[in-house]
Amino acid sequence: MKALLTGGAGYIGSHTAVAMLEAGHEVAVVDNYYNSSEEAIRRVEKITGKSVSMYEADVADKSKMKEILAGEMPDCIIHFAGLKAVGESVEKPVEYYRNNIDTTLTLLECMKELGLGNIVFSSSATVYGEDNIPPFTENMPKGSCTNPYGWTKWMQEQILTDAQKASAGDASGGSAGLSVVLLRYFNPVGAHESGLIGEDPKGIPNNLMPYISQVAVGRRDHLTVFGNDYDTPDGTCRRDYIHVMDLAEGHVKAAEYCAAHKGTEVINLGTGEPYSVLDMVKAFGEACGKPVKYEIGPRRAGDVQDSWADADKAKELLGWKASRGIREICRDAWKWQSSNPEGYGK
Ligand code: NAD
Ligand code: UDP
Repeated sequence: MKALLTGGAGYIGSHTAVAMLEAGHEVAVVDNYYNSSEEAIRRVEKITGKSVSMYEADVADKSKMKEILAGEMPDCIIHFAGLKAVGESVEKPVEYYRNNIDTTLTLLECMKELGLGNIVFSSSATVYGEDNIPPFTENMPKGSCTNPYGWTKWMQEQILTDAQKASAGDASGGSAGLSVVLLRYFNPVGAHESGLIGEDPKGIPNNLMPYISQVAVGRRDHLTVFGNDYDTPDGTCRRDYIHVMDLAEGHVKAAEYCAAHKGTEVINLGTGEPYSVLDMVKAFGEACGKPVKYEIGPRRAGDVQDSWADADKAKELLGWKASRGIREICRDAWKWQSSNPEGYGK
């Protein structure tokens, strides 16, 4: 199939591009490089020995997007493009709602006008909110989000679900019978095993694994662990850390499923295994051969104590299951960070 990846130069998109190409699919990428670099796509081509069609554009620019989609006519769109920094979304909610919602609405309008029917969307476990108890299953009611970023995912899921529902009753052509797959990611971490592509956050990382990596490589002095007084075995929060290449392979299966079915499916992409902050600090220290320096700090506002997936639906529906553990995650993150201490160097 031919897949068009919005935000395909970003962290998850670039790894998915590798997995799609390696599975024998064609890949086109649309990105405005707001949070990424063209270099990531060059490296995808280097890893796979295959070429990617690249378009620099804002996905919310309808005329440009329609022109690109009309030229490519992809069998499936995988919609990664979006702003994703939780803290920044609290400071700039309007920018977050504008970018994240607009890109989705623009894609849906273009799809209808061009008769394109299949879209896979990057959602997040954050939509389970604070009140559901893990493991999270897809049929739990969505919860209340703690920040505007989370709400944009919540709302985009709703928009895509409503558009799909309406399209099923629309026999007049256009996007009659959309196929929508909403993928709820848990905590994507790690890097491609070549060390050529990986996560390259701008400024001070908000997320645990890039922070740990930058401490290990000497870019930051120490990690602050946000709270050790939670009701967990070591007092720190637990998450479902999923290797980004497992996640990428999950997208290949999801895109293939999406192109072959109609309707809306919500699918968790996680491992089903929780690990604490201190588990990850220890595993990374083992991978890089020296302990990662850390201090205990106060809790971070908005953090949930526990989050992990029930991963059964992905296995049953897609035949996909994560195969890499925290050892591989830390090994590959370290390989990427130590061979690219300044990331892509943008
Ligand atoms: P990323 O920032 O590395 O990638 C997003 C890409 O989208 C970037 O390349 C950015 O330049 C591009 N982009 C943003 N707005 C755009 C626009 N209007 N037009 C064109 N390009 C645009 O982020 P990522 O970690 O790869 O995340 C991909 C998707 O997965 C995002 O939607 C994110 O919200 C979602 N997600 C990520 C995580 C995570 O922990 N990384 C977890 C759950 C969900
Ligand atoms: N965390 C931490 N120090 C950091 C960054 C994160 O202790 O500098 C903790 C955070 O409190 C959470 C876990 O690591 O318990 C994962 O955080 P991350 O931001 O990576 O993911 P999310 O909270 O979105 O699941």
